[in-house]
Amino acid sequence: MASQRTLGPLVLMVCLPPLTYYFYLCLRDFGGALVLPRSAADLHDLAARVPPPTPQALALYGGWVVLQVLLQVWAPGQVRQGVPLDEGSRLAYRLNGWLSFWVTLAVVAAAVGAGVLSPTAAYDEFGSLLATVNLVAFALAAVLYVQGRRAGSTTDDPIRDYFMGTMLNPRLGGLDLKFFCESRPGLILWVVFNLSFAAAQHQRHGTVTLAMLLVNAFQFLYVADYFFHEEAILTTWDIKYERFGWMLAWGDLVWVPFTYTLQAYYLVDHAPELSPAATAGIVALNLAGYVLFRASNIQKHRFRRDPEAPVWGRAPEYIRTTAGSLLLTSGWWGIARHVNYLGDLVMALAWCLPTGFRHPLPYFYVVYMTVLLLHRERRDNAVCREKYGTDWNAYCRKVPWRILPGVY
Ligand code: NDP
Repeated sequence: MASQRTLGPLVLMVCLPPLTYYFYLCLRDFGGALVLPRSAADLHDLAARVPPPTPQALALYGGWVVLQVLLQVWAPGQVRQGVPLDEGSRLAYRLNGWLSFWVTLAVVAAAVGAGVLSPTAAYDEFGSLLATVNLVAFALAAVLYVQGRRAGSTTDDPIRDYFMGTMLNPRLGGLDLKFFCESRPGLILWVVFNLSFAAAQHQRHGTVTLAMLLVNAFQFLYVADYFFHEEAILTTWDIKYERFGWMLAWGDLVWVPFTYTLQAYYLVDHAPELSPAATAGIVALNLAGYVLFRASNIQKHRFRRDPEAPVWGRAPEYIRTTAGSLLLTSGWWGIARHVNYLGDLVMALAWCLPTGFRHPLPYFYVVYMTVLLLHRERRDNAVCREKYGTDWNAYCRKVPWRILPGVY
């Protein structure tokens, strides 16, 4: 049993980093085509293309992390209490992400304007940054493991402990490592990468295409929205329940900025034709997804704060559970039990469509999000069923659809 529980983490830690390199090499060297190595020699050739970490990438990423830490620790922002921990206490979080996001962009713009940083630096160094950040993520997980050992929270399964983490809220001085890594170094880097890819397109082809502008604008909106509503992160699954180990650290630092940027990277050297009708359709799709995502999440958030406030202009309908929580059954939450995931999926599709239909690789994001959110919905459903018992069954009868009404 212990070995089975260890096998999954091992497979993920061995396979996921090479997958991110593989995507990068497909984009950089094969025009976005998914190359299939057919022999050991092919595999060797592919491996030989993997860029090593460079001093420049180390300096860039070191500077990046230092800037993000300084902003997290020093930038002004409201201090909010997190959800109650098991022993009843609450941790304080400084919510300065919105300011940090804009200050970071201003610092990057100033560095580019002053000629200290090339506008294409992130694009030029993408491969060596990928190598560098992988090392940082593995090292961070090792630090977390050692910290867990010292705190006596490890088990007799070191691989699983390393992968899942052993502590819920590890802190270094005033820095909450999980809260920090969840957004700052990765999410903001996602936006900076995209901007750098647009600059690279301009440098290489003398233009920034409509498709590139759309992908940049859509994803910028999503990340900016995240920081604008930063308080909501305090009640997310990751912050409330997930321990901080390799899985979250690597996901936040490597997976998000290096795979969520596939579409924009692909567009550097591809210019799919977008008719006015196609453009209007894609913009409408993104806006629809965004409205669904934002409105449903905020509706639940507000309902939990004030259960009497009107929902869509009427008194809210809900189920009062014996555990004490209320489950909203009207408004967006009367349509499907995770209608917010549907919003994310609609947006994910809108972010891929501008890349055209020549290669499947830029569609990885929507496929990945579908798998992630289907799995997440099942996991959340299981947790809620255990927590709320028959009340959850009553809720499922009242709101039978999981994500997409009429289909799933
Ligand atoms: P949710 O915000 O959907 O939260 C689920 C929790 O909300 C449940 O565990 C339950 O918690 C509570 N809840 C469920 N139903 C109701 C109801 N009817 N009324 C009141 N409370 C209810 O989950 P996530 O944190 O997974 O997702 C948040 C957003 O982040 C989503 O839009 C998702 O798509 C997005 N996301 C994006 C990712 C990305 O990489 N882009 C990755 C993951 C998520 P309890 O009762 O214990 O309070």
